[in-house]
Formats: sequence, structure tokens, C-alpha cells
Amino acid sequence: MKFMTQSGQAVGPIGQGTWYLGEELDRFPQEYAALRAGIEAGMNLIDTAEMYGDGAAEMLVGDAIQGLDRSKLFLVSKVYPFNAGRRNIFTSCEDSLRRMKTDYLDLYLLHWRGSIPLRETVECMEELKAKGRIRAWGVSNLDTSDIQELFAQPDGLHCAANQVLYNVSSRGIEYDLLPLMQEHNIPVMAYCPLAQAGQLHRGLMRAPVLQEIAAEHDATVPQVMLAFLLAHPGVIPIPRAGRPEHTLQNVQAAQLKLTQKDLARIDKAFEPPKRKMRLEIV
Ligand code: NDP
Repeated sequence: MKFMTQSGQAVGPIGQGTWYLGEELDRFPQEYAALRAGIEAGMNLIDTAEMYGDGAAEMLVGDAIQGLDRSKLFLVSKVYPFNAGRRNIFTSCEDSLRRMKTDYLDLYLLHWRGSIPLRETVECMEELKAKGRIRAWGVSNLDTSDIQELFAQPDGLHCAANQVLYNVSSRGIEYDLLPLMQEHNIPVMAYCPLAQAGQLHRGLMRAPVLQEIAAEHDATVPQVMLAFLLAHPGVIPIPRAGRPEHTLQNVQAAQLKLTQKDLARIDKAFEPPKRKMRLEIV
């Protein structure tokens, strides 16, 4: 259940998000350095979208990968739902490729479900694959019933990923969506893995259980949050860091192995779901 780059490298267990990056000129050098530091430290997956800063994040990614061996990177972008049909998707994809200064995407995702039928989106994605513009396609923000509908479409099982909100305080997918994706060996990309530095859950970064576990492992709370996600098979967190020191801490989180005792303590403070929860979306 792992992504591979075009030249056959396994994709690092943690990727790099880019929402809100590339939007401010004065932050550009620091954000460029953050992405570059991540790549150099082995974070070869970069997640972006045509939506982010109206293409500004894709342009930053394009700059950050200059001079690197493209075949060892795994670049992901997303198409707006209203562009995910025959009329616009081919232009959207070309625009993303141009901004990212590359000639193919490793993974192209439907950003969320809109009014264009899934069947049409899948057909177009398959055409993009056949043309070599993308290596694989997937979806984002699709809950269990949407995923089941997708799988029932012709070629629907070619779906290579579902990118959804998942972090220690938003665990609803563990009830049914995550097991469904695991059963089909399709990775789940965990977005907002740090709950946007706690903005999605007030006080999260100061939660005693996370602070205690972090101290016991000589780690930070964000690292514990990433390690929590990595303890779930088939989950790839994609934290966004706008500064290199954060990127490097995030890379190191892959070395942090939480014990069963740690995970049980987390379960006590942040209970896993006991019933179906509607998929959270930001
Ligand atoms: P995250 O949960 O990744 O949180 C980002 C925040 O965490 C930033 O403020 C960042 O600060 C901070 N941070 C990162 N690393 C550290 C660290 N080691 N220590 C302390 N703080 C840290 O939020 P995002 O919403 O950005 O989600 C991640 C990615 O997922 C997005 O960037 C995007 O690529 C994707 N996404 C996809 C969605 C979808 O609909 N498919 C929706 C939302 C996100 P700083 O910048 O200062 O480093």
C-alpha cells in the first residue's frame, strides 16, 4: 500500500502539504527552503492543488523542484470539482503541469465531489493516464458511500488514493472509511495532520497526554501527532510547514515509534469513533 516514484523509489512515509504556501512574496524564500529541505531529507511526496493560492502553491513547487531528478519525486495535484469533467479537466491538468514546470503528475486527485458524474471524471482521468500526463489518479474528501459508488464505476477501482482530514482529534474515518480503503489496499493521505497547528481543535497542542508522550520520547507534540497517524497502516500524513526547521522535525517524526501503551493513552484522551461519523472537511 505504498506509492512508488517513476524511477521505483518508495515514497517517504510523510509528505509535504502546500496549502497557503507561495502566496506572499516576502515568505517565498523561507517556504522554498522548507520544501527543498524536506525533499533533501527524503520527503519526496509534495501535495498541492490548482486551488491553492490560485496556482501560486503549484508555482512554488515548480520552483522548488528545479534542478532535481524529477523521476525521484512524487508530485500530487488536485482538480476543482467543477473542472473535473471532459470540458475542463484536460486544460486544468495542462495548467497545473505548466505551473509546476513538469510534464507529468504522479497523482491527480478530484479535490472534492461536485456535480460532474464520477463516471465522467474517471473516464477523463484514465485518458490523462493513457496520454502520460498523470501516472495515477485518486480522490479527496470522499466519504464511504461516495467511495463505494466510485468503486462501482468502470475503472473505479483504479483509484490510487483518498485524501481526507485525519488527525488525533478527528478520528471519524477509523470507523468505516479507513478500513474500507485498507481492505482495497488504497492509501489514505491524511490532510490537516497537525489540525492546522491546533487551530482546528483549541488547546490540542497543549493536551497533557500529547505533551507527556512527547516528553517521554524526547519529541515534540506535532511529531507525536504524525507518529500517531503512521501507526495506522496505509496512512500517509502530509503536514504543511512554511519553515525548514518544522519540515525537518516532521521528517524525523517517521523515526518515532509509539508504543501500544502510548496509543492506548491517546485513545483514552481522544476516543476512536464508536459509530459512523460524517467525514469532516475543511
Ligand atoms: P496542517 O495540519 O499540516 O498544519 C499546518 C500548520 O502546522 C502550519 O501552521 C505550520 O506552521 C504548522 N507546523 C508544521 N509543522 C510543524 C512543526 N513541526 N511544529 C510546529 N508547527 C508545525 O494543515 P494543512 O491544512 O496545511 O494540511 C496539510 C496539507 O494537506 C495542506 O497543506 C494541503 O496540501 C492538504 N490539504 C488538503 C485538503 C483537501 O481538501 N484535500 C484540505 C486541507 C489540506 P509553519 O507554516 O509555521 O511551519
